[in-house]
Amino acid sequence: MSALVIRGARHWRTGAPLDLAIADGLIVDRAPDGAPELDAKGAILAPGLVDLHVHLREPGQSAKETIATGTRAAAAGGFTAVACMPNTDPVLDSVAWIEWVLSRARAAGRCRVHPIGAVTLGQKGETLTPAHALARAGAVALSDDGRPVMSAGMMRHALEYAAQAELPIVCHEEDLTLRGEGVMHEGFTATRLGLRGIPGAAETVMVRRDVELAALTGGRVHLAHLSTAESFEALRDAKRRGLAVSGETCPHYWTLTDESVGDYDTRAKMNPPLRSAADRDATIAAIQDGTIDCFVTDHAPHTEEEKRQPFAEAPFGIVGLETALALTITFLVEPGHLSLERALELWTDARLEPGHPADVTLIDADAEWTIDATRFHSKGRNTPFDGWRVHGKVLATVCAGAVTHADAALAVRGALPEFAEARA
Ligand SMILES: [Zn+2]
Repeated sequence: MSALVIRGARHWRTGAPLDLAIADGLIVDRAPDGAPELDAKGAILAPGLVDLHVHLREPGQSAKETIATGTRAAAAGGFTAVACMPNTDPVLDSVAWIEWVLSRARAAGRCRVHPIGAVTLGQKGETLTPAHALARAGAVALSDDGRPVMSAGMMRHALEYAAQAELPIVCHEEDLTLRGEGVMHEGFTATRLGLRGIPGAAETVMVRRDVELAALTGGRVHLAHLSTAESFEALRDAKRRGLAVSGETCPHYWTLTDESVGDYDTRAKMNPPLRSAADRDATIAAIQDGTIDCFVTDHAPHTEEEKRQPFAEAPFGIVGLETALALTITFLVEPGHLSLERALELWTDARLEPGHPADVTLIDADAEWTIDATRFHSKGRNTPFDGWRVHGKVLATVCAGAVTHADAALAVRGALPEFAEARA
């Protein structure tokens, strides 16, 4: 039996003193005598963070990341569960590959991993994947993330079919004919740098299309990584109409603008691209008024070699798991845009009551530190936030009652349960 007591924490909602007892992977009323103890020294105890949009890069792209390194990064960032995207090589479009990811995660993972299956075979937009079978195998959603399902007719059928399998479709919203050869947001900075632009409308027209397809089919649409003021407006409209449409955004959209591309800095190249200051402000407004349903990182590791290419050729994407909480606290909570409680709500759906899985995160919200990409557990170093001074540190992460990450400064009594033994 594995057990653990976290002493001297503060409840994430009330701030009240809290000792949390854990046994056999669950929160319990009282831990067995002699259970090892973690002294939280007044840190905030919150439910484990959940990231619905992560690229773990396996199978096939393990130079960028592996399930082992990606989930290790997740644990360091306070996450106890991630949903991983299917744009791997090969694509997660079959029962066999969903099962492969789950078994890899069981063997080498440091958090819960929920695979997302592809909408179409090979993400080619031509033939639907077997949604029911993928759902039975453990897929929690379908997505052709990285490339949109461009045919509205195909998307209609996909939504109807996914609805029967009770799976939402996570939509990467981008009209490829509007994106063209674009590599960053269309605007003054792109013009100054002589780079081809991607207009905000490339995202928004697809958001509008899929909102209408949700209305037509009754399917569940989850809008991935929203970045434009008009997209937020479209999501607001969809909610007013009572449609089954939800949406997410990422820390870089409330933190940065297209000016962060500076002089061709590929660490600021992602898709959707960093937008205008007005879009960034609209992102914060959409978070504040409840339009945004959850935060995600869109953690997208790439190798140094790939990102060292000229801006137009370098791949889209940045890593995010190990900076997410600090960017939330530093740029949403500290300026007063959002309470810490509400910010954490947008990063989790876990619960702290007895009987629930012991997935928790210990946070020092005031701790100041410098982001240092060379110290990431992720293989990816591609972040525009390297060297930034931030507030808010993950002191420890506990998943299924086992310690998956712990700051060296924490006082420990006894041998803490390791994740490997909880998995066994
Ligand atoms: Zn995407």
